[in-house]
Amino acid sequence: MARAIELPAWPGRAKVAVCLTFDVDAEAPWLAQSPAYARRLSTLSEGRYGVVRALPRILELLERHGASATFYVPGATAERHPDCVRAIVAAGHEVGHHGHDHLRSHQIDADVQRAEVEAGLEALANVAGVVPRGYRSPAWELTPETFALLLEHGFGYDSSCMGDDRPYLEELDGQTILELPVHWSLDDWPYYGWSVEAGGNLLAPSVWLENWLGEFDSGVAEHRLVTYTMHPEVIGRGYRLVALDRLIAEVKRRSDAWFATHAEVAAHLRSYSRTSSSTDVPPTST
Ligand code: ZN
Repeated sequence: MARAIELPAWPGRAKVAVCLTFDVDAEAPWLAQSPAYARRLSTLSEGRYGVVRALPRILELLERHGASATFYVPGATAERHPDCVRAIVAAGHEVGHHGHDHLRSHQIDADVQRAEVEAGLEALANVAGVVPRGYRSPAWELTPETFALLLEHGFGYDSSCMGDDRPYLEELDGQTILELPVHWSLDDWPYYGWSVEAGGNLLAPSVWLENWLGEFDSGVAEHRLVTYTMHPEVIGRGYRLVALDRLIAEVKRRSDAWFATHAEVAAHLRSYSRTSSSTDVPPTST
């Protein structure tokens, strides 16, 4: 169930809030599919490209634009590439929870879902001293068990559901969590992702840019939040990074946008709900 909340004006009277989010999957989703991928060095190398080559370029791009971003990092990626996660933190960006082994919640039992959440928390704390406030489910599939684990561990928001295109409360059995929604059309993977087994589209950046700027324009018209989801190994190819540079520049040219992390948006909504009687964004419990 989705429950609407009243949205406040954005800080600085910005007309729209823009969240650039990156799921730093690296090798984890391949190894989660099957242990057989441990022998597939070429496949794993594409995932690794995301952290060793793409991530530094993305951090440089964000710094040049003065834009904060949110990076959702599986615990296993943090353990395999600790310096990359530390570089994200050192650059002032947010690190969110993205499982541990990137196992899909709906394909694992309740005990393994608990292990995914708790091992992910432990890894981010050990590697980078991070206590994530937000969660994004691997492959965007939340289950009742994982929903309950997020409340148990005091997460401030989730970013895995699509029940609205504005921030809202995702509700289950009378309990709620703040949802900063996503959508497949605002994910780089359907445009650019490709694999030997599944194929893909490999669309031109012009198509991607037109869709994402269209979403931005509609976000400005409605003064809402626009969340873009990217994967370093996907968006971090040379010509696609040029297009991302163009997207950010065009967003800045077209309107007054607040580039914020998901944590900053959640904190803004929560502080507004405390001073307004008409909204009820739940407080975080820890
Ligand atoms: Zn992922």
